[in-house]
Amino acid sequence: MTAILIFFFGHWLSSVFFQTFYLHRYGAHRQFELSRGWERTFHLLTYLTQGASYLHPRGYAILHRMHHAYSDTERDPHSPVFEPNIFKMMWETKHRYDDFAYHRVEPEARFAAATPEWPFLDKLSQSWPMRIVWLAFYTGFYVVFAPSPWFYLLLPAHYLMGPIHGAIVNYAGHRFGYRNYASADVSRNTLPFDFVTLGELFQNNHHEFAMSPNFAARRFEVDPSYLVIRLFAALGIVKNLSPQRARYPHVPHTPSVRAEVAAMPALLPDAVEVLAEQAPS
Ligand SMILES: [Zn+2]
Ligand SMILES: [Zn+2]
Repeated sequence: MTAILIFFFGHWLSSVFFQTFYLHRYGAHRQFELSRGWERTFHLLTYLTQGASYLHPRGYAILHRMHHAYSDTERDPHSPVFEPNIFKMMWETKHRYDDFAYHRVEPEARFAAATPEWPFLDKLSQSWPMRIVWLAFYTGFYVVFAPSPWFYLLLPAHYLMGPIHGAIVNYAGHRFGYRNYASADVSRNTLPFDFVTLGELFQNNHHEFAMSPNFAARRFEVDPSYLVIRLFAALGIVKNLSPQRARYPHVPHTPSVRAEVAAMPALLPDAVEVLAEQAPS
């Protein structure tokens, strides 16, 4: 029983941590910088913790940037406003995600810039033989340690861990909870201490200040992943954390100085707008 509980909660928490830390805050938003070595380390850890249901970082980043750009409108890739059935929402999200992950559809350039990619690992992760190895591992663990066959009912959660976390955040975070900011979308903060998805359920705060590394915005709110990010920053693993309450759009960190300079004229009006909004009145 103890082994199963440790396995279940360990898989849940490690998988959702790397989703929020690596895929979301780093890959999609670039709220901080990582050296090449740390980027690869966290990319690998994301794969090892999400296993069979690993979310391809490129597909995740593109879909997520579109979600911010079109939040709760018809062009949002996943909104409970337009698809109130959570299972249908998950299924449709999967199709859109596959299109971008496998380069079947090319998105607008602004959604695809500087997404983390590791071609060998990303390809291996999407192969069925590797998925079957992961499914056999989860199942085998339950066969050995489950005190009764009733526990097998938990197995589908292991098989679909990554998409389950995504669905909880995208559904509950845009339906249930309170609002701190009157945003144009219907995003909400579901829990003041988000121990379920480690900070992801502060959707209303996050849509208001999408570049803030801390998803908590008020004194009583706790974002557990931000505490870990602070620790990583103190250890020098994470560098150049973007400031709290930084808004989106932003000047993205691009891999080369030349690309960054070339992108500047297009980004300048946005940058001026952001600075104007943040100026003390
Ligand atoms: Zn959202
Ligand atoms: Zn986001």
